[in-house]
Amino acid sequence: MSHDFSPPGPHSQALFERACEVMPGGVNSPARTFNAVGGSPVFMDRAEGAYIFDVDGNAYIDYVGSFGPMILGHADPTTVAAVQNQAAKGLSFGAPTGLETELAELIRDMIDSVESVRMVNSGTEATTTAVRLARGATGRNKIVKFAGNYHGHVDPLLVSAGSGALTLGIPGSPGVPEAVVADTLVATYNDLASVEAAFAEHGDDIAGIIVEPVAGNMNCVPPVDGFLEGLRGLCDRYGAALIFDEVMTGFRVHPAGAQAYFDVTPDITALGKIVGGGMPVGAVGGSKAIMESLAPAGSVYQAGTLAGHPLGMAAGIATLQQIRDHDVHAAIEPNITRLLAGLEQRAANAGVALTTQRVGAMFGLFFTAEDAVTRFEQVAACDTEAFARFFHTLLAEGVYLAPSAFEAGFMSRAHDNTIIDRTLAAAEPAFAAAARR
Ligand SMILES: *Cc1c(COP(=O)(O)O)cnc(C)c1O
Repeated sequence: MSHDFSPPGPHSQALFERACEVMPGGVNSPARTFNAVGGSPVFMDRAEGAYIFDVDGNAYIDYVGSFGPMILGHADPTTVAAVQNQAAKGLSFGAPTGLETELAELIRDMIDSVESVRMVNSGTEATTTAVRLARGATGRNKIVKFAGNYHGHVDPLLVSAGSGALTLGIPGSPGVPEAVVADTLVATYNDLASVEAAFAEHGDDIAGIIVEPVAGNMNCVPPVDGFLEGLRGLCDRYGAALIFDEVMTGFRVHPAGAQAYFDVTPDITALGKIVGGGMPVGAVGGSKAIMESLAPAGSVYQAGTLAGHPLGMAAGIATLQQIRDHDVHAAIEPNITRLLAGLEQRAANAGVALTTQRVGAMFGLFFTAEDAVTRFEQVAACDTEAFARFFHTLLAEGVYLAPSAFEAGFMSRAHDNTIIDRTLAAAEPAFAAAARR
C-alpha cells in the first residue's frame, strides 16, 4: 500500500518522541502538530529569508512565516542586529524604557485609529485586554463574536456556535465554565443580519463586537461589501465598542492594517504577530479617551511583568520601520498575484478544484469548486483529504505550508520570482497527488 505521507527525517522523529514524553502532544501550540494532515511534525533548526531548515538538513520554502510575523523574511539582518544590541544591554528591567514609547509612537503614526497603546506579550493578551476594556468602558457585559473567528485562547471567546444563525455561546473547551461564556453571543461572519438580530435582542447590554476584519483562522476569508461598515453602524447606534482583532491582519494586509484597507475605523485594535517582529509582543490601541480607562490612568486593571519587553520592542521597532519606509506590501503584491495565478493554473491542469483568495500579503487555498468563499460553512466543506495529499507532497518537494486546510498562508518580501518558480514546480506533483483518491 502506498501511504499519503512520508515520515519526517530521523532527527525530527526522535525529537518529537522525546517531546511527547515531557509536553502534551509534544508541542507548545496545537497548530504545530500534523494531526489534521497525518504524520508527525518537522522540527526546525534555523531560517533565513524565504527558507526554513529542519534538523535533518532539509530546506523548505516557508509560507507559514511563524504564523504571520515574518513579513520581512526570516532572520532579517536589521531586526536581528537590533535584538542582539539590545540583549547585550540586559534582558529586562521591570522599569520603563524609551523603546516602549518609540514602538507606541510608530504604531500610532501607522494606524489611524490608534492614539494610545498598551503593550502586552501575545495576541491572546491583546484580545483579553480589548474585551475587558470594552466592558469596562461601556459598563456592559455582552460581547458579540463570530463563528470561525479566532482570538487566542481567551476563555469567554472560546465558544462554539450552537445551531441557528444567532446563538448563545456554548463552551468550546472543557475547562471553560458555562458562566464564563454566558455573555458571549455568537454570530455568523459576513452575515450582518445575524448581528442585527443580536443587537435587536440584547442591544443595550452589548459592550462590543470583536471581529477579525479578514478572517484568517478559517483559511483566508475577506469581509463581504458592507459587512464591516454594518458592524460600525450597529456599534454607533447602540453605543457599543467595535474591536478589530488585527493580530493577524495588522501590518500584514496593509501598512496601516485592515482598517485602512477597508476604510472602517474601530474603537479598539488588538495587535500581535508582526508588531513584535518575531518576538512575543501584543498591543492594544485606541483613542486616548478609551485607552485612559486602563490602569494606572483609569480603573480597568491590566498589567504585565515582562510587558514592553526590551527585546520585543527592539524587534518590533526594526520591523515596523521597514514596513513604513520600504513599501514592503507593494513589493509583495505582484509576487503573491503570480503565485496564486500559477497555482490555480496548475490545479486546473491536474483536474483539481481550487479557489484562491488573498488580501495584502496573506492568502488562502481552498480545495473547493466554489468560485468565492465567504462563509464558515463553505470553508468547513472544503476537501481536507485533497489538501493533506497536496500538503505532504509539497513538503517532500521542499515547500512548507501550515499543516491544516484552515490556516492562511503568508508571503514575505523574500519570496521573489525564483522562489515562486520553485514553488510552482513543486506544486505540479502536489496537485497530481491531490487529484488521486
Ligand atoms: C494568532 C491570533 C491570535 C492569538 O495570538 P497569540 O499570540 O497566539 O496569543 C488572536 N487573534 C488572531 C486574529 C490571531 O490570528
